[in-house]
Amino acid sequence: MLHALWSQLIAEASATPDVECCGLLAGRDGVISALLPARQGAPRASTYEIVPAELFSLFRRMRDERLEHLGIYHSHPRGDNSPSESDVALAYYPDAAYFIISPRPDAPRPVRAFRIADGRWSELAIDLL
Ligand SMILES: [Zn+2]
Repeated sequence: MLHALWSQLIAEASATPDVECCGLLAGRDGVISALLPARQGAPRASTYEIVPAELFSLFRRMRDERLEHLGIYHSHPRGDNSPSESDVALAYYPDAAYFIISPRPDAPRPVRAFRIADGRWSELAIDLL
């Protein structure tokens, strides 16, 4: 992923410290180069949801801009930024990288990425370019 996006993810998570922010990550040739913030369907501190109309327009935008859908991000305003039970249960994109951001200044790793499939998750290494 492009280095600038790393800081952008943290800035976005920090801008909404009380609710989870969420959105999609896109790019070309497997390199994430664009962040597409989504409106939260049900703004809460412990879950995220991208409403279908919003998801549709984000996918249309990626198609128009010839971007590949490479990831999905959301923040965990409180607690640890590893996948929650609902993150695992609601992971519908086994090929996408799930980024979870912590806005907490004391977070050891504020941006983490995971592959979530078949009810399991594994952490991915993030290469910054
Ligand atoms: Zn989560």
